[in-house]
Amino acid sequence: MSSEKEFEKLKPMTVESLDEILGKPFKVLDDGFVRVVDYMGSDQSIVQAARVSYGSGTKQVSQDRGLIRYLMRHHHSTPFEMCEIKFHVRVPMDAWRQWIRHRTANVNEYSTRYSLAIDQSAKTKEDEWRLQSSMNKQGSEGFLSKEEGTLLTQEEEKLHSDIWGIYNSRIEKGVAREQARKDLPLSTYTEAYWKIDLHNLLHFLRLRMDKHAQLEIRKFADTIGNEIVKRWVPLTWEAFQDYRMNSKSFSGLEMQLLSLISQNENEKAAEKAKKNLVG
Ligand SMILES: Cc1cc2nc3c(=O)[nH]c(=O)nc-3n(C[C@H](O)[C@H](O)[C@H](O)COP(=O)(O)OP(=O)(O)OC[C@H]3O[C@@H](n4cnc5c(N)ncnc54)[C@H](O)[C@@H]3O)c2cc1C
Repeated sequence: MSSEKEFEKLKPMTVESLDEILGKPFKVLDDGFVRVVDYMGSDQSIVQAARVSYGSGTKQVSQDRGLIRYLMRHHHSTPFEMCEIKFHVRVPMDAWRQWIRHRTANVNEYSTRYSLAIDQSAKTKEDEWRLQSSMNKQGSEGFLSKEEGTLLTQEEEKLHSDIWGIYNSRIEKGVAREQARKDLPLSTYTEAYWKIDLHNLLHFLRLRMDKHAQLEIRKFADTIGNEIVKRWVPLTWEAFQDYRMNSKSFSGLEMQLLSLISQNENEKAAEKAKKNLVG
């Protein structure tokens, strides 16, 4: 067994720029927020974990950056799992329904069986009503006119007022909270504590910051990424931008087409693409 002498004395790895915003709510949508409640680890924890196999401690920043970029580029996941973060979030139910699909987080959600529902619904401004996309069945493009939007917003206000009136009257009549809530709309806000490791958080961000994600959840993901993760693990964030968010991967066939194009064999490339129906 090793003697105590062989081990250096350790302090928790803290990140000053993240400590500065601990507990601070970042507003998202009209009444939502994200705030950091707690965290563990930093860029240095990632390099420390990666170097454990040969026992050397933290090196110069440039070497740490290189190692983190290498890990990200080659999809080494476990060093990034050494960092964890816990958020307190307030999110409308429609976005939350998408959010909760990420199974790798630990969650505790506000209970509307135990407590009264949060008396807030996400509202839509006159100029925020999006049109159904004609290209992407899951997406939106452009906006309705302000005139149409004004009517929709008025309609929404009435709907919210009616539904909250009904909910409150059920509560006053003594209906159980678990049943009184059944007709509340998807725009109702919920709150949760959401804890996740950095590897899985980056996976969440890659999917939910993407332009194919719904705008509402994208706004939460953008806030987590740009306001929080960027401060917490700047070297990892930079590598993530470079190797995940701003990169593209190509299939074997696409590589062959690119090779033909780079040799000015455009016709051959077009023929091959047509034959293989590249989409
Ligand atoms: C733009 C968009 C559109 C979507 N549309 C739909 C839709 O129409 N319908 C729908 O139902 N969902 C939809 N989803 C949800 C999507 O299919 C995923 O369920 C969600 O994004 C969570 O992803 P995940 O499972 O990779 O994440 P996590 O649950 O966080 O898991 C992270 C990774 O861990 C691994 N993992 C986790 N759990 C398991 C397990 N039990 N077994 C094996 N591996 C596991 C996987 O590698 C996984 O990628 C959509 C998501 C996006 C981003």
